[in-house]
Amino acid sequence: MRMKLRIWRQKGPDSPGALHDYELDNVSSHMSFLEMLDVLNEKLIKEGKEEPIEYDYDCREGICGTCGVVVDGVPHGPARRTATCQLHMRTFRDGDTITIEPWRSEAFPVIKDLVVDRSAFDRIIQAGGYVGVNTGCAQDANSIPIGKEEADKSFFAAACIGCGACVAACPNASAALFVGAKIAQYAHLPQGKPEATRRALRMIEQMDAEGFGNCSNHGECEAVCPKGISIENIATMRREYLKAALKTGSATI
Ligand code: SF4
Repeated sequence: MRMKLRIWRQKGPDSPGALHDYELDNVSSHMSFLEMLDVLNEKLIKEGKEEPIEYDYDCREGICGTCGVVVDGVPHGPARRTATCQLHMRTFRDGDTITIEPWRSEAFPVIKDLVVDRSAFDRIIQAGGYVGVNTGCAQDANSIPIGKEEADKSFFAAACIGCGACVAACPNASAALFVGAKIAQYAHLPQGKPEATRRALRMIEQMDAEGFGNCSNHGECEAVCPKGISIENIATMRREYLKAALKTGSATI
């Protein structure tokens, strides 16, 4: 396959960026999207005219989300429920032009080319996305009965890999799907109850402090999420926040 690529190049956080055009021959349809970028970088290194393109990745198995970029305007690209690293070139046609850009959000500043700083998500988790109480030794399996429906809801929320595609897809650059999933995974389990009030207040406070926008129910986040995280988790987050705010009288809602 012969591909035309339009790729966002930006030397650093404070440099202006622009789309640059590249052409690549002999792309195998069996290649993954990241292998194709590797081949382009080898070509750029051999030619010695331009620096290779910086992009992030880690597992290449669709379980870390680090690879996320916007492909033809869609976070993670055109294949549904597929992280960029699992996208294959057979998804495209010979001669296609593919536009590749980094996540766009003020809270995810560009570090270089396609690499963005997603540490805002880490700070939201640090604000309360954990169980911090001393729970002692691990209990015997099944000693705390948890209903199947609640266990499933928690399990599906916990599938969020923190890639940030939801933010990149949202017209408001809202992190509500990510934060909703992280709050919901504990809200449905007894282990999450003792710190539920503090968790909801702190995580939402931190989300706002990081500069993410508010959710206005567009649903774009769920559509692009590689793990199919449901916007039901945003409703759970709102319920948890309302309960916490009424309990503490601490919020203006
Ligand atoms: S909710 Fe989906 S898109 Fe958003 S960070 Fe989690 S896995 Fe990525």
